[in-house]
Amino acid sequence: MKFIDLSILCFFILTIPNIGHAKVDEVKVSEVDYVHYRAEIEPNFESKSLSAAVTIKFVPVIQNLRQLKFSSKYKQVKSVRFGGKAINYDLINEQLIVQFEDNLKSGKAYSLKVEYTAAPERGMKFYEDHLFTVYHTKNWLISHGDISDKATFELLLEHETGLESVGNGQLISRYETGQKTTISHWKQDIPIPIYTFGFALGFFETLLLDSSRTDISVLYRRAEKSDLTSPLLKLAFKDVADMSSFFESKAGFSLNEHGYRYVVVDGYMAQEASSFSLVGEKFVHTVLKNKNENWFIAHELAHEWWGNSVTSSNFSHFWLNEGLVVFLVAAYKQHLFGDTAYKNEISVAVKRLEIAVNENRIAPVAFSKVIREQEINHTMAYSKGAIIFYMLREKLGEELFWKALKEYTVTHKDGSVTTQDLKSSFEKTTATSLTSFFDKWVYGEEIPKLKM
Ligand SMILES: [Zn+2]
Repeated sequence: MKFIDLSILCFFILTIPNIGHAKVDEVKVSEVDYVHYRAEIEPNFESKSLSAAVTIKFVPVIQNLRQLKFSSKYKQVKSVRFGGKAINYDLINEQLIVQFEDNLKSGKAYSLKVEYTAAPERGMKFYEDHLFTVYHTKNWLISHGDISDKATFELLLEHETGLESVGNGQLISRYETGQKTTISHWKQDIPIPIYTFGFALGFFETLLLDSSRTDISVLYRRAEKSDLTSPLLKLAFKDVADMSSFFESKAGFSLNEHGYRYVVVDGYMAQEASSFSLVGEKFVHTVLKNKNENWFIAHELAHEWWGNSVTSSNFSHFWLNEGLVVFLVAAYKQHLFGDTAYKNEISVAVKRLEIAVNENRIAPVAFSKVIREQEINHTMAYSKGAIIFYMLREKLGEELFWKALKEYTVTHKDGSVTTQDLKSSFEKTTATSLTSFFDKWVYGEEIPKLKM
């Protein structure tokens, strides 16, 4: 059994079943391509707030753009500057609406700078000795909620000297600006989904896991705070090098050259960001008691390929982030512990699906029309989604299944995907039509009867 329901992981959303669908995937085209965010952020532990300035580089996709909208939830905007000059803006319904005096040209790069303070009740967690961001970025950064939009990110985090920080990509410099103040400058130069922007800051120790994989490390609080020591963490995370090799072999490409960091934080937490994840101390203790409970270590790492690199275009295809990762964790457990462990993981998904059926919470796994985040049915995306990959593997056999998954992953590296993209990759590799399979199990509400 899992200690908690998967619904607290990765995304924090409600379940509303029964959304209809049309035949063609309709991916909403944004009016603007947000290219780069450069954020200067100074968090305050005591007031659980931050003061920030963000410079956003963007390219209009449409002609004559006059307005941009961002989430202003939990934020106080101090100024908005465009082309070096203060510009008019409105704050309506938790949105920052920036009005341009002239029409902006499509295809031309512009930049906008917003100064603000934020007290994010969601999207950040503050503790006495550490803090970190969680889903969703728009709660602490002036940005938006589109999950498929990818951009590069630069973070200049101003903090007390002596604290360790983790951000996306690479720490390119760290310098003291005053007696007790340091700026840690993180840079992510490959575009990543905006919801995977993030950082952690605290009195962390750093542990390198494996001499063969110096690109993977664990940051943790000292034993007096966490009850965790370096030998215990080595034990809990002992399979990470093997795990990474397993996912690399299935994906067809390696971890990003900037490596990967697990940040072990207070409580129960399992949240991916790009190039790092936040995992709870309580979960680490569960894996020390029972080695079979290492799912969260595998789950968040797998997102580095499926979710962070190959990202669902919108919430209609959310199972491509989560159902696939739940399946891949089961497949990894099979590799590590044997067939029974694989079947056990899939059985957990089957049980969750049975509960949803009994409670009449049934919906398709994917939708041809765009759905809102609140409309995602979690059990369908995570559990039935994983079961569909299990069924595809049974149907196609080992060789073709993994070949097709690799073809899909390599083709859409650093891109955004719909369910049709997955179907196309599998059909191309197997030279088989999967239309009836997808119509029945993915777009349809049919519940498989599996004998595990
Ligand atoms: Zn996840």
